[in-house]
Amino acid sequence: MRKRCFVAALCLVLLFSSCSAIEPKQHSVFAMDTYMSITAYESKDEACELFEQLLLEYNKLWDLDSSDSELSKFNQYRHPVYLSPMTSSLLVQSLDLCEKTGGALDITLLPVTELWGFRTDAPAIPDSGKIQQALLCCGYERIHLTEKGISMDPNTKIDLGAVAKGFAADQIAEQLKQIGCNSAVISLGGNVRTIGTKPDGSPWNVAIQNPLDESTPFATYRQSGDVSIVTSGSYQRNFIENGVLYSHIIDPVSGFPVQNELASVTVFCESGLVADAYSTALFVMGEEKAIEFYKKEKNFDFLLIRKDGTAIATSAIKDRLAISDPNQIITYID
Ligand code: AMP
Ligand code: MG
Repeated sequence: MRKRCFVAALCLVLLFSSCSAIEPKQHSVFAMDTYMSITAYESKDEACELFEQLLLEYNKLWDLDSSDSELSKFNQYRHPVYLSPMTSSLLVQSLDLCEKTGGALDITLLPVTELWGFRTDAPAIPDSGKIQQALLCCGYERIHLTEKGISMDPNTKIDLGAVAKGFAADQIAEQLKQIGCNSAVISLGGNVRTIGTKPDGSPWNVAIQNPLDESTPFATYRQSGDVSIVTSGSYQRNFIENGVLYSHIIDPVSGFPVQNELASVTVFCESGLVADAYSTALFVMGEEKAIEFYKKEKNFDFLLIRKDGTAIATSAIKDRLAISDPNQIITYID
């Protein structure tokens, strides 16, 4: 499973940067249960060091595999005293995104995600009675923002897997700029964040994985400046039983892995947190609702790749996308 994540992360950030005169420094770290990498063109040594230090710090805050992490303690004791300002800020912003997406994003699914075991080496279909029982403890409205801080209903537990990497990417980008690194790209397991521009002024080229064929990218996305490119897909963590693919993205209504026409959703916008939240939520919504949501919000772009290999994207990114297969069927919407 980890090897797959590593390959996916590498594929996603295939940067065709060899034309740049300044050689970047690259560094990889294993944190948040996936491989993370940085390619820095400025303040290179400090940037790589800071990248690792911040990721290890965030891992300590949100690692659900450690009973000592801040999130594990909050899940156990449900008292605001366990929350740092950073985690509180992530929770408050995430709750807002849960509401905006009509609950397609729901950060309280831990009782259900634990049953499926996608973070273990042996995920399996749980007993449906147990799923129903676990669902009774889920629902983002069971988290309360009060004057005393954040609290939760009994048995509610938070899983930040859908948002933490995007939030972390925003924090890292900010801190890198503060130490003078204004030219870098980071890849946090499916979450790519570009920072500033390349030293030679050429745009970043970020490869978007083809969910149906790991060997070639579906497209490359070209843009200068700060942008987050986040992909959620059923190819990332899954298992197959009786010919059915079960992936790690859960429908909060049924408690089962999402089954719809989509193979992956990539969201493009400046905020890593929003891109991470929306890529998961749009995957849950399915194509029709995802398009409706886009038409209402309009503050992001997307590329949806269907299981049949066809795709649909927002027209604003048409000129930035270089599709690998010239025969690819792709529709653009406004
Ligand atoms: P992502 O890879 O960003 O799409 O997030 C998927 C991860 O978030 C899963 O591994 C779960 O830990 C968690 N998750 C699964 N389904 C949902 C959902 N509907 N809302 C919020 N988090 C979810
Ligand atoms: Mg996400």
